[in-house]
Amino acid sequence: MIHPMRPISLFNTLTRKIEPISPITPGEIKVYSCGPTVYNFAHIGNLRTFLFQDLMKRTFLAAGYQVRHCMNITDVEDKIIRDSQVDLPSEASNEARHTAMKALTDKYTAFFLEDLDAMRILRPTVMPKATGHIGQMQTLIQNLMDKGLAYAREGSVYYRIAGFPNYGCLAHLDREGMQSGTSVDVDEYEKDQAQDFVLWKAAKAGEPTWDSSWGPGRPGWHIECSAMGIEILGDRVDIHTGGVDLVFPHHENEIAQSEGALGHAWVSTWVHGEFLMVEGEKMSKSLGNFYTLRDLVEKGYDPVTFRYAIQSNHYRKLINFSFEGLKAADNSLKRIRAFRKRMEEDGAQSGGGTWKEAIDPLKRLEKAQTDFWMAMADDLNTPEALAAVFTLISDLNAQDDRIALTREERDAVLEFMDETDSIFAAWPREAASLDEEVESLMAARKAARDTKNWAESDRLRDQLKTMGIILEDRKDGSVGWRRG
Ligand code: AMP
Ligand code: ZN
Repeated sequence: MIHPMRPISLFNTLTRKIEPISPITPGEIKVYSCGPTVYNFAHIGNLRTFLFQDLMKRTFLAAGYQVRHCMNITDVEDKIIRDSQVDLPSEASNEARHTAMKALTDKYTAFFLEDLDAMRILRPTVMPKATGHIGQMQTLIQNLMDKGLAYAREGSVYYRIAGFPNYGCLAHLDREGMQSGTSVDVDEYEKDQAQDFVLWKAAKAGEPTWDSSWGPGRPGWHIECSAMGIEILGDRVDIHTGGVDLVFPHHENEIAQSEGALGHAWVSTWVHGEFLMVEGEKMSKSLGNFYTLRDLVEKGYDPVTFRYAIQSNHYRKLINFSFEGLKAADNSLKRIRAFRKRMEEDGAQSGGGTWKEAIDPLKRLEKAQTDFWMAMADDLNTPEALAAVFTLISDLNAQDDRIALTREERDAVLEFMDETDSIFAAWPREAASLDEEVESLMAARKAARDTKNWAESDRLRDQLKTMGIILEDRKDGSVGWRRG
């Protein structure tokens, strides 16, 4: 469907209003998302946040924009250090400490990417690692020191919040209660502890370090995103996203750092997704009340069903996770997919005939399309957008029972199903989805062969065979396939 760029509005945490997004570079949206801290598997709460970002990005793409999406990988941080250094002796070299940290973060980065793929979350355009940008962080910290916005103390460097009059603008803090001059060394703290925060942490025994003009140490968490965001997306960013817990202090501190250094506004729109809860409590690793995507798969759920269950709720509403919710999502998806299949096949009789409640399928389709886009453009209102799809499905199913839609009408409907699927990523064309599944099983088989895991490789070949796919090992080492 060719259409000009559709306007999209989003709730901006900075202004607390739903506002139209007009990118700095016309037609291209620059998005920065705070990425995962890779010391363990992501839990499905974390994945909810990455999913809402994907939904937003896919909406812009479907609306005709280009999206340049940067999502960092936090691969140096307190918990990563804690978990990666446990087995090292106290006399371990700095190099050994870095190697151990990298081994842990590489492992969980790979699992994270697998989770994104399984949930059909589009890969970000750029995924910078914090450890690859230490130099940029040091330059940014030096810039803040030169401007009098940061000071060194005992080998650490802190941000002087009193020097930045806008401090508190995002979290809407009362400046009265702030305590500049006293500082916090931890990265996570509450609003009533608004103090000078750490940019560079002096070396501690047992931690990997980098050299700097303030002595050996490592970056604080907040400086990572400012440094990578400015480096990769530039001085002006359209949208910055994260979960609601990041509003304070992380994003507040990013604003202080980036705008303090640049001397002008950095991000136009801040968008935050709500939490996934379990029995009324926030799902989190520290509470131990979490599931990973792998846990759901083990229980027999498809990651795409989880995707749909989340996306049938508005991204700014709390969701209470439940397996009943997943079952309901599965039923809704079955209904959409069955309708899509019905439209792919020809109708029982050719079009025409009479029925007193007959409708014009193309007019009905046009209304669904308008309603769908009005909902998505209004701060990604997915429940309403899906309601437009379901109303279309019931109306056209009823019509098709009496007077079959013509091939042209069916194709127009399928085009709409493709358009909506390009955002929801849950009801692809059968052939396309089969291809995707075959490709991913073949990639898994290749990985098994590369590690000489012949049993797994044979198992995957058999699984493909049961799907009617015959693999052909070619002379040049590559593998092809055909339907058998
Ligand atoms: P982390 O890997 O801990 O840095 O978290 C990655 C993202 O998950 C952040 O944007 C958090 O805001 C988000 N997050 C953490 N817990 C939840 C939750 N229960 N529901 C939704 N998002 C969450
Ligand atoms: Zn961040």
